[in-house]
Amino acid sequence: MNPETTKCLIIGSGPAGYTAAIYASRANLNPVLYEGIQPGGQLTTTTEIDNFPGYPEGITGQEMMDQLKAQASRFGADIRFGIVTKADLSKRPFKVTIDGEKDILAETLIIATGATARYLGLESEEKFRGQGVSACATCDGFFYRGKDVAVVGGGDTACEEASYLAGLCNKVYMIVRRDVLRASKAMQERVINTPNIEVLWNHNTKEIVGTPEAGVNGAVLLNNKTGDIKKIDIHGFFLAIGHHPNSELFSEWVKTNEEGYIITGGKSSRTNIPGVFSAGDVQDPNYRQAVTAAGSGCMAAIDAERFLSENK
Ligand code: FAD
Ligand code: NAP
Repeated sequence: MNPETTKCLIIGSGPAGYTAAIYASRANLNPVLYEGIQPGGQLTTTTEIDNFPGYPEGITGQEMMDQLKAQASRFGADIRFGIVTKADLSKRPFKVTIDGEKDILAETLIIATGATARYLGLESEEKFRGQGVSACATCDGFFYRGKDVAVVGGGDTACEEASYLAGLCNKVYMIVRRDVLRASKAMQERVINTPNIEVLWNHNTKEIVGTPEAGVNGAVLLNNKTGDIKKIDIHGFFLAIGHHPNSELFSEWVKTNEEGYIITGGKSSRTNIPGVFSAGDVQDPNYRQAVTAAGSGCMAAIDAERFLSENK
């Protein structure tokens, strides 16, 4: 039997994938979208979204993603549950395998597989995820206005997040596992010169503590030089130990930077392979927001539509 063919295949069902599906279906590309293991993407793991334009009262992550899906379906996007397990991008149409068993041939491909925040792997971190534990200060910092919080990590992201939180919170602890910051000199200076940031050098987090009702109220830390244990009183615990872009499946074909983010050309969603586009966090080491992901999903669909009209 001949494999199914499609003009536009979208991989991923976060804000980038669904927005690409809205634009591609309205452009009559009859897109097929595979949702992957996390239908709705990262936002389904959080509670309120207060910074996506158009929702003055806020909206839950799950509800917003249900609405984006409904909007894409309304214009005829074919949204399916399935995981892409292999991709052969050596020639057009591109051959993509779903769940290890079904092949689909795509004239254009939009990769919107997102990125995953790294966590420490503590049991207590899982327990309080969304109840004080967060991997996104820009998203959740607002909930901790006037309170004490901690940021784990010593890179540019950790410094940036700590500086951002310092403008909102009473006090910010930076929990750094070595006696140096990995961050750039400029970022280091910013942190050191911010009076309400305290860097806790040579510390590892042993446990995050709190109650099921009120969430996090502290963290137990180990000084890895002296062996001393101390507890800090905090309400927010922010991870900033890096992200992992979900690009492995495509990295044999599509150029990525040294951290694995897909490289897109200039102000476009184009990858190094004509006909393959990328949108959202998987190609964005900088912003990683729902609205930027949605914006780049729009760009990818428009780029795919233009590509098809120029390459009939
Ligand atoms: P994602 O949302 O990461 O979705 C990726 C999609 O790709 C998923 O559907 C997944 O199933 C799919 N996928 C992956 N691999 C495959 C595969 N092999 N086959 C098929 N599908 C695949 N941003 C904000 O703007 N405001 C907020 O308040 C906010 N809060 C956040 C709270 C938390 C806890 C987290 C983790 C993030 C938050 N963010 C927030 C960031 C926001 O969620 C991301 O920037 C956004 O979801 C990125 O969208 P995306 O479409 O690129 O990918
Ligand atoms: P990163 O540079 O890889 O830094 C990760 C930090 O987390 C490091 O300090 C690391 O400690 C620490 N860490 C990792 N695993 C840990 C663990 N299990 N426990 C405790 N600490 C842990 O990641 P990033 O800060 O997200 O930056 C990623 C890239 O984006 C970098 O190239 C960065 O320069 C860039 N970036 C730039 C800007 C900017 O220029 N404005 C802003 C953000 C990010 P060690 O140092 O001990 O390894």
